[in-house]
Amino acid sequence: MTILILMGPPGSGKGTQAKVLAGRLGVPTISTGDIFRASVAGGTELGRKAQQYIDAGEYVPDELTNAMVRERLAEDDTRSGFLLDGYPRTLDQVAVLDELLAAQDRRLDAVVELEVDPEELVQRLLRRAELEHRSDDTEEIIRRRLQVYTEQTLPLIEVYAERGLVIPVDGAGEMHDVSQRILQLAESLLHRDR
Ligand code: ADP
Repeated sequence: MTILILMGPPGSGKGTQAKVLAGRLGVPTISTGDIFRASVAGGTELGRKAQQYIDAGEYVPDELTNAMVRERLAEDDTRSGFLLDGYPRTLDQVAVLDELLAAQDRRLDAVVELEVDPEELVQRLLRRAELEHRSDDTEEIIRRRLQVYTEQTLPLIEVYAERGLVIPVDGAGEMHDVSQRILQLAESLLHRDR
């Protein structure tokens, strides 16, 4: 069983690489951003509550996010492991995840950190904004999302580093090259002595 977190700033290619990594490991990807966007599109109550935050580039409140992840992790397909994409992002979410895993007598295997130069991030996000028309991809909102990440999520790396869980991966350059690095990492995780 493999339980992984993939962390990285907005624009780091986290969503794409999460699918590559989880695909190779044969575990489902749980992407809180995707779940929120689907909830907004589906007009659910969660979506209605989350939309204002997402559109402003702010984090959805921990209460809502944690409740959603709690439900998702109770589903059967997570039994053989899972990869979290975009969760946890706050210290409160770290505490809730610790509690959820402990209650199921499971433990985190690793936190993969995608590292990308901040200037490259803004350029990538602006390019993506033109292609995808996400409601949170204007330049002002992009800068706000990067700031929120730096303030609220970057400290989590330290927390997990103290536990010896962080594996940094170079996220610079072409998507394809980053995917190759991610696949290499997947091989070492698959063969790791557990
Ligand atoms: P990005 O990583 O580029 O910010 P995501 O698709 O992962 O994009 O997330 C989009 C938005 O969804 C975030 O800006 C935030 O509003 C919300 N969101 C996703 N995951 C979380 C989380 N763990 N906690 C709070 N808000 C979240």
